[in-house]
Amino acid sequence: MNNYKQALSNNIFKVISLASEELQLESYVIGGFVRDYILDRGEHKDIDIVAVGSGIELAKKVSELLPHKPKVQIFKNYGTAMLRAYDMEVEFVGARKESYSEESRNPEVESGTLEDDQNRRDFTINALALSLNEKNYGELIDPFNGLEDLKEKIIRTPLDPDITYSDDPLRMLRAIRFASQLHFKIERESLEAISSNKQRIKIISRERIVEELNKILLSERPSEGFSLLHNTGLLKIILPELTALEGIDEIEGQRHKDNFWHTLEVVDNISENTDDLWLRWAALLHDIGKAPTKRFDEKLGWTFHGHEFVGSKMVYKLFKRLRLPLNEKMKFVQKMVLMSSRPIVLAQEVTDSAVRRLIFDAGDNIEDLMTLCEADITTKNPRRFRKYHNNFKLVRQKIKEVEERDHVRNFQPPVSGEEIMETFGLKPSREIGIIKDAIKEAILEGEIPNEYEAAKNFMLKKGKQIGLSPK
Ligand code: ATP
Ligand code: MG
Repeated sequence: MNNYKQALSNNIFKVISLASEELQLESYVIGGFVRDYILDRGEHKDIDIVAVGSGIELAKKVSELLPHKPKVQIFKNYGTAMLRAYDMEVEFVGARKESYSEESRNPEVESGTLEDDQNRRDFTINALALSLNEKNYGELIDPFNGLEDLKEKIIRTPLDPDITYSDDPLRMLRAIRFASQLHFKIERESLEAISSNKQRIKIISRERIVEELNKILLSERPSEGFSLLHNTGLLKIILPELTALEGIDEIEGQRHKDNFWHTLEVVDNISENTDDLWLRWAALLHDIGKAPTKRFDEKLGWTFHGHEFVGSKMVYKLFKRLRLPLNEKMKFVQKMVLMSSRPIVLAQEVTDSAVRRLIFDAGDNIEDLMTLCEADITTKNPRRFRKYHNNFKLVRQKIKEVEERDHVRNFQPPVSGEEIMETFGLKPSREIGIIKDAIKEAILEGEIPNEYEAAKNFMLKKGKQIGLSPK
């Protein structure tokens, strides 16, 4: 019945089996590979092998038996070894028992049985093992009913969840990440244990936190993961800028929308149209400036004046704190946040000059910006929903027309600073900037076409206005 020989069709398993026999030890495939095989999620490219004995010795033997004798990378501190074969990354570890201390997620380890090793795994669905031993090759060893949990779509810890999460708090994020990736439910006791251990997340490095956040963001409906992060209280510790958006205030009968739940909808929406991690980050952060800028104005009602600018500044701090890259990826997210309302204003009235400005300012990010703004439409009123989407279709159409005609994307003014200096016999000075800007403005406003002759005439006219004459 529970034989999964067909999961072991890759040649590597036969070789590991042979090597184990030569060393007279038992070995098993465990974890993600087995889980994803049973879930039919496509081939899991990293294989985890548990040896009841030395994982490092087993890895060396496997390499010996392989025709291409792959290099064995040894991690002495962890007692693990890794090699690549048949397009797979195979990691070997000796079966172990773990005991944890308060301060660290790195346990004391001693060698143990397969059962000990399964006990230290984070979830029942990750503790499934397939035997690579001759006597029962391909048999599923499932002491915690992981198979059942896979079918029922449940995340459950093999041992007491309270201890499991406290021992290694990274598991809290892993639970939520798997729930989000696999559309699984976290079992109730586990969920409660996560809530009560949430403060323990502080001992986890930010790099690891971000790794899990990124995986949640890249899942099909990131809101599944983010709602869990929120409901367990983890989000408030990791991303307080986001949870600050929660809530609806009412003054004089005027309410604003709940910008936290709105944001999660926007992230889900955009995830239907892009797999780009950074565009998804932009969606997640596009409204973070709304918490610090929220005001109630007698005449205007609720306002978030300048939230795009404030939000884009917050992106830097947030990226820095989470050790996210402070490179062009961050600049991209900042730019998206900063410009996130621009097309919306435009959709009310689409003029050529406004579209030219938008293209000029967004440059090559114009497509991404439009994708973000479309995702931002979360109104539940079907008439408005259609109207806004139609308006954005018009904006996209207009962008195409204007771009084909005027070529303003990344444009350089057709008259250079040197030419301005040359024409008026100027040294580097403020006037040059003034004239250059005026040319750019005239082109964006549509006063003159984006062409050399027109720009040159305009330069002469403008120079005259500010008291210059050609030399
Ligand atoms: P994926 O590769 O999609 O992240 P995975 O389950 O393979 O999923 P890995 O991080 O590759 O996850 O880890 C391999 C296996 O190691 C897991 O299936 C699990 O059994 C075990 N494991 C990983 N991290 C932990 C942890 N923090 N605590 C307990 N067991 C863990
Ligand atoms: Mg894996």
